[in-house]
Amino acid sequence: MKKKSHKTINNKCDTLWSKIVRERAGNRCEYCGRQNKMLNAHHIFGRTFLPLRWVLNNGIALCPLHHTFSNTFSAHLAPTEFTFWLVKKRGEEWYKKLRQKTFPDIHRNPLTIKDKEVIYEELKKHSDKDNTIDKRFYKV
Ligand SMILES: [Zn+2]
Repeated sequence: MKKKSHKTINNKCDTLWSKIVRERAGNRCEYCGRQNKMLNAHHIFGRTFLPLRWVLNNGIALCPLHHTFSNTFSAHLAPTEFTFWLVKKRGEEWYKKLRQKTFPDIHRNPLTIKDKEVIYEELKKHSDKDNTIDKRFYKV
């Protein structure tokens, strides 16, 4: 049997998280509404915030332009504009709650492989359903 590693389970969770975030948005950019084969699932709080790495609420589907390339509006090149728009779209309460989750001391209690397997199973349940999870945030 293949040895279990953090890398393998991280990749599995990342892939599934990204798929669900994109499907939940109807495979459209949540900013411009366009469908795009290269749609990205962006982490609102980056993956270094481990407690939020696989939280669906921490994801948003963006086309490459609005994810990375636009100087006037993209999560990476115009983060202030992006955050301003996002908070308006999803609400201040939502942002505040998400932001609070960036604080737990993950280094004292790192996620084990077992923890990550549980997260993976939880994500799988979401993808089995349909793309209605957290739909209240995604009114286009
Ligand atoms: Zn877009």
